[in-house]
Amino acid sequence: MSSDELVALRHHLHSIAEVSGEEDDTANYIKEQLHTCNPDELITEIGGNGIAARFKGDKEGPVILIRCELDALPIAEENDLDYLSENEGVGHKCGHDGHMAILFGVAKKMNEKARSRGEVILLFQPAEETGKGAARVLEDDKFKDIEPDYVFALHNIPGYEKHEVIVKNGAFASASVGLIARFKGETAHAAHPEQGKSPALAVAQLIQSLSALPQFYVPLEKAAKITVIQAHIGEQAFGTSPGYGEVMATLRTYDDKVLENLQQRSIDLAKGIAKTYDLELDTEWVEPFPATVNGEKAIEFVRAAASSGDVTLIEKPEPFGWSEDFGHFTDRFEGALFGLGSGKNQPALHASDYDFPDEIIETGVKMFTGIIDQIMKKK
Ligand SMILES: [Zn+2]
Ligand SMILES: [Zn+2]
Repeated sequence: MSSDELVALRHHLHSIAEVSGEEDDTANYIKEQLHTCNPDELITEIGGNGIAARFKGDKEGPVILIRCELDALPIAEENDLDYLSENEGVGHKCGHDGHMAILFGVAKKMNEKARSRGEVILLFQPAEETGKGAARVLEDDKFKDIEPDYVFALHNIPGYEKHEVIVKNGAFASASVGLIARFKGETAHAAHPEQGKSPALAVAQLIQSLSALPQFYVPLEKAAKITVIQAHIGEQAFGTSPGYGEVMATLRTYDDKVLENLQQRSIDLAKGIAKTYDLELDTEWVEPFPATVNGEKAIEFVRAAASSGDVTLIEKPEPFGWSEDFGHFTDRFEGALFGLGSGKNQPALHASDYDFPDEIIETGVKMFTGIIDQIMKKK
């Protein structure tokens, strides 16, 4: 497949953008296209809409799994493109359309090349943005006979020059989890809040306390952040003192253990506040992402592929603050996630005017095929 074909494929995927868990049209299109690459096996509906194409060599050898993501985001596009998303309010604002095009380029290479040994599995994973897809793929019975020796994925990174490859030993992307704290009290007439149980002060206090929590419970050398993302009490009813309130926040660290501690502190805090104001409390954890931790051997193959492909390598001193559900894969297998620069002036990931730059598709293909070559040639 020429680069023009990969670009056309990316544009089509962009135009049919679908949110997490609803990637039906995207998965069907991928499936059709993958058939033309003659994989030895095509596994469909893995962990939801997931698809895995297996390319087997003639002899036993290392098994390498490479992952990309199928899903887009519930963000309306603000771009001037001739391949705009046809689904209103949904856009490929994380560049997963580009990641898919890259894996297609790899699939084409697998088809063209004689496969001497080992196995390459190209996984098109659903529901990355909600943190559910990776775990579901791993739990799926269809994944049972897949035992990769190595797992790899890349993510495009705005703010870095196009084609730059960004690597880091150890933690690469953060662990994160969402907290929903619901306070239940009792409504009353707004003239007599003392006759009810308003959650107003509890909500206000929890917002302040959560925001300050990392300061008091996390040591200086361990990064942690809590971001309150939504809060709400009562209704727009000026005659009523509210009886219900909720706070939502995202907790973020570089380390799974630090996150666990922060989660416990958050719950203790919410319980204390609920008790103070005589409210019922109900808490829920949503969208958990483990930290993505790069394996020592795997990341060396990424470095080797960059140097043999003459790609500029950037060593990042700190992990990225965002999370990736690829952490579920690096938890179980030797693997690495690396960054691919998508332009200094590229809008940020999840911005409404973001669009994946087509020029870096070939660099992504070169990196993955380089990694495969490095591993397969090693005895
Ligand atoms: Zn994203
Ligand atoms: Zn993404």
